[in-house]
Amino acid sequence: MQAIYIPHLLQIPNRTQTLLLDDFVSGLDTLTPVRGKMLIRHGGTFLEIGLRVETIMTLSCDRCLQQYNHRLTLDTSEIIWLDKNADLPQNFPQEREIAWEDLSETLSPEGHFDPNSWLYEQLSLAIPLRQLCGKDCQAPRTKPDEKPPIIDSRWSSLESLKGQLPQ
Ligand SMILES: [Zn+2]
Repeated sequence: MQAIYIPHLLQIPNRTQTLLLDDFVSGLDTLTPVRGKMLIRHGGTFLEIGLRVETIMTLSCDRCLQQYNHRLTLDTSEIIWLDKNADLPQNFPQEREIAWEDLSETLSPEGHFDPNSWLYEQLSLAIPLRQLCGKDCQAPRTKPDEKPPIIDSRWSSLESLKGQLPQ
């Protein structure tokens, strides 16, 4: 996918570019190509990016350490503000600092939108932080709070000793 020159979007019907996706995303290790659709709409002062994709990733389970396939489905949209100062962050006036922190991303209206890196970012964010192969996953090693009762010989001898003591 080529980067989209933002002013070009103003000249196409509905100011919307539709990208059909069916390819691997560089840097992202997926088992199947990322399939779906991306819509890039020019809203005058912002770009609205809509994404609906699906892919399968091989993840490794945090609990049993086995590899498993995870279906990653994304149905999301994001607003990217267009500001002619976007390329010159050092020139932002002091009083605007707080407002700019709220914006996830800004691009210059004369700049380019890179669908590849945006897609990569969205997919990376969608990878589950806690990776479990399934609800019934059995850990090979028991967790500290699930330890079977340890039978310590010292305790059992103490138990038998207790029995011998007069009540
Ligand atoms: Zn597991």
